Amino acid sequence: MKELLLVRYGELGLKGDNRADFERALLRHVEWTVRDMPGAFVSRSHGRLYVEGTFDRRLVLERLRKTPGIVAINPALRVDSEIDAVVEASIAASKEAVDKRGFKTFKVEARRGDKRFPLTSPEINRKVGEAVLAANQGLSVDVHSPDFVLTVEVRDTGTYVYWDEVRGPGGLPSGTSGRGLLLLSGGIDSPVAGYLALRRGVKIDALHFWSYPIVGERSKEKVIDLCKALRESGPDLRLYIAHFTDVQSEILEKCPERFRVIVMRRMMMRIACEWASSVSAQAVFTGENVGQVASQTLESLRAIEDVATLPVLRPLICFDKVETVAIARSIGTYDISCLPYEDCCTVFVPRHPVTKPKLEDVRAAESRLDVQSLVAACLKRIEEEDLTAV
Ligand code: ATP
Ligand code: MG
Repeated sequence: MKELLLVRYGELGLKGDNRADFERALLRHVEWTVRDMPGAFVSRSHGRLYVEGTFDRRLVLERLRKTPGIVAINPALRVDSEIDAVVEASIAASKEAVDKRGFKTFKVEARRGDKRFPLTSPEINRKVGEAVLAANQGLSVDVHSPDFVLTVEVRDTGTYVYWDEVRGPGGLPSGTSGRGLLLLSGGIDSPVAGYLALRRGVKIDALHFWSYPIVGERSKEKVIDLCKALRESGPDLRLYIAHFTDVQSEILEKCPERFRVIVMRRMMMRIACEWASSVSAQAVFTGENVGQVASQTLESLRAIEDVATLPVLRPLICFDKVETVAIARSIGTYDISCLPYEDCCTVFVPRHPVTKPKLEDVRAAESRLDVQSLVAACLKRIEEEDLTAV
């Protein structure tokens, strides 16, 4: 009897090459979830993946839960396809279900995928059901709405018995939908926007504008921690740091206060589009959301997008904050985002920002800046941060 994890993924709409790429990418990602567990191995068979060997079940489940492309994970027992062994595993699984959750009712659902097995599915149901009843006092059968379903799958690689299920994020495996650049602040929204892009299979790199020493070293460490959390959903994620102090100082000195934030966002967007192109990204992702702050009215979003040379995608555009926060909590970025270190924006917010900027006014407000050279100088100093260092 072996403990393993049975990993299920969606197959709808996947054909030919697409499907092979999808499976290969998912296999690679699932292998990444056991990266620090040399006793574990991952295999594939019949449109499923299996994590086997010795591994930290709780930790791997936690990682698989954030792995794009996975629909569900079942902690399972595998035995040889031989009825006594199947019964024994079923009893063990049912005891676990009763102990852990205090369940009172159950039913057995057998699927005989391997027709060489001598019992039919209804015969397996009956035999296993009787044994489970006999082994668990106080447990009874309810075929209509049982507390748990004990699934028994007979396959050519063995028989799998399970009752529990952890939902995955769905979506598409990492790297199967091209490449995007995420504008990552230290806030709550942009990590969630990045996660949603990753969930659709977009390979994400992150760009953070860092205004040291206006903000401290800690604000960068916070962004590094956010990236480490996001890497569970996008193992290849890279973080680039753009030194933004000079740009911000120029804006502070030369632009009217009310337009500062919009002009700053436009500078970020220009730099981001150039950088995205240089790392072969097809689009820029942000955590913007309609109406959240002055710089996110439709007028402001338009004034920012005015300087973009790539599509600007905003996964959270119509989310309510509670929805965003719920995702942030489930992917483990919320607590990091709530750390109080300042971001370049927080030290820059004017008392009365313009909420409905006219394009010509914005352009006039930045006319005293040497946009080209500021962009070029910032691009020259972009550095990749090492996310593997502890
Ligand atoms: P977030 O929670 O992501 O900070 P927000 O609602 O607080 O979002 P803003 O702070 O106005 O909104 O930022 C809007 C978007 O601009 C962010 O979601 C992010 O994509 C981008 N952004 C803001 N500050 C930075 C930064 N320092 N570096 C990179 N991108 C940034
Ligand atoms: Mg913010």
